[in-house]
Amino acid sequence: MQKLLIAIPCFNEEENIESIYQRIISDINFKELGLEHEILFIDDGSKDHTVDVFKKLSDAHDDVSYISLSRNYGKETAMVVAFDYFHHDALIIMDADLQHPPVLVNDMVKLWRLGYDDVYAKRNKREGEGWFKIKTSQWFYKLLGKISKTPVTPDAGDFRLLDKKVVVALRSLRESQRYTKGLYNVVGFKKVAIEFDAAPRLHGKSKWSFRSLVNLALEGITSYTTAPLRISTFLGFIVSAFAFIYMIYVFIKTLITGPTQSGFPTIVILVLFLGGCILISNGILGEYLARVFMESKNRPLYFIEEKHTHDQKKDN
Ligand code: UDP
Ligand code: MG
Repeated sequence: MQKLLIAIPCFNEEENIESIYQRIISDINFKELGLEHEILFIDDGSKDHTVDVFKKLSDAHDDVSYISLSRNYGKETAMVVAFDYFHHDALIIMDADLQHPPVLVNDMVKLWRLGYDDVYAKRNKREGEGWFKIKTSQWFYKLLGKISKTPVTPDAGDFRLLDKKVVVALRSLRESQRYTKGLYNVVGFKKVAIEFDAAPRLHGKSKWSFRSLVNLALEGITSYTTAPLRISTFLGFIVSAFAFIYMIYVFIKTLITGPTQSGFPTIVILVLFLGGCILISNGILGEYLARVFMESKNRPLYFIEEKHTHDQKKDN
């Protein structure tokens, strides 16, 4: 029988875990689909009783495993834990807050059986999310789509079914500055979208602050494309071209009307403008260099504090 792994990254989700487990069991027709399943909860360094709830669930049910990380690494890294643990036929990743309806998995599995390797859920509307968050994320995807060769699909999150092939491919990408939404497109494979209405979070608050979203956006751009480097080169060319034309203009003007003393404002403007361009280019270079530095350390992506599975094969 084919085996499905459902992986759920959790960061301070003690109130949601029982509900998501119940919903998975009640909403997904494992029997009808002819699927064995394992549910892997990944604790991303929670400060609350998340791990205790894992323990309770896993003691009571044979299909629940958990891995607890040594600290909070962020969802992007928590997902790598799922890729590494994976030894099944397909992987589903979903959020713990029930924003991703488990019932959709039934249709995802059907599409997978039709031969698709990456069935991704696409949000129709976002309930419980502010206008600002929706707009900024739209702008971000537009920008990213314009500047990168393998565009990121807007409104498609990490709620997906991935075939073994895709997971093995993703597992081989060990970069520490991760932007997984981009990586799905980097590895390729046959993709298909399935639409759903995202529900509001069940309990608790979103773990993403505005700052962490800005960071993720920067991560998205700098780890996914080198377009900004080119933009700064273009900017340099354009500014130099203007400076050159201006130089010729001043030269000819001086020939015709003779030397003049004026022009201080022009100099100040030019110096400030060029200074700004140089600083921006330096900053962009620095962003990339910092990433080279981080990757060159080649550290393991995460450390496991505790692991409990019912799968003897993988217990170690
Ligand atoms: N999450 C995580 N580590 C973090 C932040 C979040 O594992 O550092 C998990 C979180 O528990 C949830 C999922 O990632 O299951 C999505 O988080 P959240 O609902 O806060 O994000 P949003 O839905 O607002 O994008
Ligand atoms: Mg959420």
